[in-house]
Amino acid sequence: MEEKYGLLGEPIEHSLSPAMHNLWFKETVISGHYTAYSVPKPNLARTVDQLRTLGIKGFNVTFPHKTAIIPMLDEVRGTAGSIGAVNTVIQTDGQLIGYNTDGLGFYEGLRAHFPLLVKQQPSVLIIGAGGAARSVALVLAQKFETRVDITNRTFSKAVFLSEACRRFCTSDALTFQQAEEDIGRYQMVINTTSIGLNPSADQHLFRIDGAAPNTLFADLIYQPYRTAFLQEAERKGYPVMNGLPMLVFQGALAFERWTGIHPDGKKMEDYLLHTYLS
Ligand code: NDP
Repeated sequence: MEEKYGLLGEPIEHSLSPAMHNLWFKETVISGHYTAYSVPKPNLARTVDQLRTLGIKGFNVTFPHKTAIIPMLDEVRGTAGSIGAVNTVIQTDGQLIGYNTDGLGFYEGLRAHFPLLVKQQPSVLIIGAGGAARSVALVLAQKFETRVDITNRTFSKAVFLSEACRRFCTSDALTFQQAEEDIGRYQMVINTTSIGLNPSADQHLFRIDGAAPNTLFADLIYQPYRTAFLQEAERKGYPVMNGLPMLVFQGALAFERWTGIHPDGKKMEDYLLHTYLS
């Protein structure tokens, strides 16, 4: 029997997740189908109940439901609890169990593209302190155990996240101005803000002059394929990484939770790039 999987969010129309997971089902010869469900905020609880009754095997959760879904689940495991956000749910014996694979997905994508940098345990600056920043910062703080500093428009959120990172590594909360002045100390700078989604907004929120040679600049956004932030870094000769590896590897980790099989992330990146993003 074909197992049901899906994605809950809104807006959801442009999501690449159905194409990605349905291709993995085909390639791994697992009988499953993944559907995107457009769910407005007031309908979330009802939709989760319906999916539970339907016997859905697993689903992903995206904007704006990652935090709101937590009280609707039976259990939250791993970093999802400390982050306060769930992006993957598995149903076993009628119980809905929530996980977060975003941060580890970022890390696995980084490892696939920049293995030497990962081995060097880089010091990291994270711009932004929203949900995605929390997932990425806490995983990198645990993996690298070096320095993960946070800068954010709303400074109190940077302080909160930096304090959480300090359980695992050195971490300071910085204003944008302080972070710009100190940029030369980092080997990796990650823009986790949503600003690049809106090409008409003022994109110059952060100056990167003075960064050390070979600093890696990353952005969690993949549509546009190169945000203004990455375009500027690329123009200045720095290596860059957009959000596509994170999308694919968080998906691969979710697929593994549901099926026990870890699919080929790098191959999927090439497929999505050539089929949907170029
Ligand atoms: P949140 O809304 O939780 O956080 C948004 C962040 O952006 C906050 O730090 C906010 O600062 C900052 N921000 C927004 N607008 C501005 C602005 N004009 N100037 C300065 N800072 C700004 O969003 P998420 O953390 O959930 O998502 C962030 C981005 O990551 C999105 O673009 C999303 O698409 C992407 N993402 C990509 C994934 C992938 O798989 N590639 C997975 C998950 C997310 P403040 O706190 O001051 O409001």
